[in-house]
Amino acid sequence: MQTIRRKISIFFILCSICAILLCTLFVNLTINNKFNEYMINTQNKRYERIISFLQETYKREGKWTENSGVELIHEAYMSNYCLTLLDNNKKVIWGMDPNDIRNNLHFKNMNVKEAGIYNSKTFEIKVGDKIAGYVDIGQYSSVLLTEDDVNFKISVIKSIIASGLVTLAIIIIISLYISKQLAAPIKDVANMSMNLSEGRFDTKSTIKSDIKELENLRKSINVLAEKLKNQDIIRRRLVSDISHEIRTPLNILQNNIEAMIDGVFPVTNERLNYLNEEVVRFGKLLNNLNLLKEFEEESIKLNFEKISLKDLIEDIYNDFYMAAENKGIDLILKLDNYSEYYITGDKDKLKQVFINLISNAIKFTEKGKNICISLKYERDKVIAEVKDNGIGIKEEDLPFIFERLYRGDKSRHETQGNGIGLTIVKNILQLHLANIEVVSKEGKGTSFKIYFNIYK
Ligand code: ADP
Repeated sequence: MQTIRRKISIFFILCSICAILLCTLFVNLTINNKFNEYMINTQNKRYERIISFLQETYKREGKWTENSGVELIHEAYMSNYCLTLLDNNKKVIWGMDPNDIRNNLHFKNMNVKEAGIYNSKTFEIKVGDKIAGYVDIGQYSSVLLTEDDVNFKISVIKSIIASGLVTLAIIIIISLYISKQLAAPIKDVANMSMNLSEGRFDTKSTIKSDIKELENLRKSINVLAEKLKNQDIIRRRLVSDISHEIRTPLNILQNNIEAMIDGVFPVTNERLNYLNEEVVRFGKLLNNLNLLKEFEEESIKLNFEKISLKDLIEDIYNDFYMAAENKGIDLILKLDNYSEYYITGDKDKLKQVFINLISNAIKFTEKGKNICISLKYERDKVIAEVKDNGIGIKEEDLPFIFERLYRGDKSRHETQGNGIGLTIVKNILQLHLANIEVVSKEGKGTSFKIYFNIYK
């Protein structure tokens, strides 16, 4: 198996080698063609120059002699081509030997590959209307290249190869850099998920990336780790809390009953009532846990009907009025008498919601303070609010209050509770497609707002 870094680097490098090879090939072909075109043009011009020189010579001398135009031989020799002057009967006046060129130093300096089969072309030398003679121009390659031409060609090829190599080196460096940029965060996330799978939730992916998808991946795995960590804490707490919740009433019952059996405590009505309260509390806990189990198994059946939230809240208000007054708390009800606040829901379960919220409010509000229950319309929603100015919830507890068996700072209050009330509230409201929001400040109070859909 290959690493992503290696794979990306190889891919980049192969692609760039192909691109460079193709570029080099095309540039080379184009330069070669253009260069050949240019050289053929130069050659044609040379032919024209030789012919017109010989025409001028004939015009000047009126006939061909052995010296007519011989000065051309030197240049021809130096430039590796062969000249032969013929009269109008194609009789040789003077001529060069092609073998002389072969042995010539300039010819050897020429690109040897260019030197092939000897070819010659015969051109007419016209003076006026009549043909004065012929000149035969021969050479060993289709296009004659001088040493400078060959050097020019070689240096162009060299620069193309050099630029190709430099480009390749740059691409290798860039590809190594980019592949590292891609691979490092992925590797980090992979390591982190390994840690998570082994139960090490305290890890965090820290290698940031400027690639949107990778950054999103990093952030989401960090969120996942945070959630798993919280779940883990809650799970551990759940086990210890459940055993604690069950052990405490059991111990009280056991100790008291043993004391009564041993005759240490007399069996009085008062003591039996106290023990009964513990049994009731124990029973409530088991009922709540059972209810929670039903929610979690989604086996709970709701009985939906049109209900008036106003009636429901008024009933609960009356039930709690005395309990609040006994604690010295002012329980206020704020509703519009002409509205019924109809919604669709399960009456018993919604009662449970408000009972839990109001009993919490009473539990966590001190004497002399107040609790306000209100209902109002807002666009297509009915908003029910239970607001107190009690002890409030610590900021760090807020995100967890709806979790199973989560109880805020226990040392602050000795009130009984088992941290299930709000979990049940949340589960019931979810089935009603209603949202619940909590705003709380320690020492200032708490407000729970529920957003129900209006009955249509
Ligand atoms: P409990 O049985 O402990 O009341 P809940 O699930 O009903 O369990 O509540 C969870 C925690 O939320 C409580 O332990 C408490 O810390 C906090 N809480 C709930 N309602 C209030 C409130 N009105 N004021 C202050 N704290 C609250």
